Amino acid sequence: MKKHKLKSNPSNEPPAKKGHWALGLVDSMKDPELKVQEDDRVVVIKDKFPKAEFHYLILPKDEIPGILSLGKQHEDLLEHMENVAENLKTKHCHREFKIGYHAVPNMQRLHLHVISTDFNSPCLKTKVHWNSFTSPFFKSSQNIRDELQENGKIKKMSCEECDGYLKRPLKCHKCSTTPKNMPELKRHILSHVTKNKE
Ligand code: AMP
Ligand code: ZN
Repeated sequence: MKKHKLKSNPSNEPPAKKGHWALGLVDSMKDPELKVQEDDRVVVIKDKFPKAEFHYLILPKDEIPGILSLGKQHEDLLEHMENVAENLKTKHCHREFKIGYHAVPNMQRLHLHVISTDFNSPCLKTKVHWNSFTSPFFKSSQNIRDELQENGKIKKMSCEECDGYLKRPLKCHKCSTTPKNMPELKRHILSHVTKNKE
């Protein structure tokens, strides 16, 4: 079976060695250019390649590789991360945000995406980028917390299911438009971008 375009899942592999690209987020947690805020449990950074006008990542200080490593003991932490995300949203009160996790992340260290739904960014280039935030490949924070509460762990999404989401035809997240390609999609979504800039 063909792999989707995202790089392979670090959770299936031995932990990345120091200096490996997949550990870039851990370095960025210490980068004053990217760090937005922190508390005793989490660090908030700006995504280095933002896929929208506002795109943050919330990372725990504890070394949790990703969603597949979560257990019951992390329920409080996930609730805290979601509260931090909700608080970040209030800084941009006219914007709508999505708060969640990629089913199969590229980067190591658990990270919660907090992303504005304009998706208006030069870094959003590919169909995989688009579908990774607008299909069920993007699992809401609430969804992950519910699954953890019910099952005590997060079930890995199969490669077939991931591929189905990441390769599905382009569709606008706000209306029924089905753009033929990324340039068309990027032009179309501008029509939904709010003019209420803070
Ligand atoms: P994921 O696919 O959920 O692992 O997403 C990883 C996110 O990290 C993407 O949105 C990338 O743009 C972002 N990213 C990649 N490398 C870095 C880095 N060194 N510092 C900050 N953000 C990064
Ligand atoms: Zn639309």
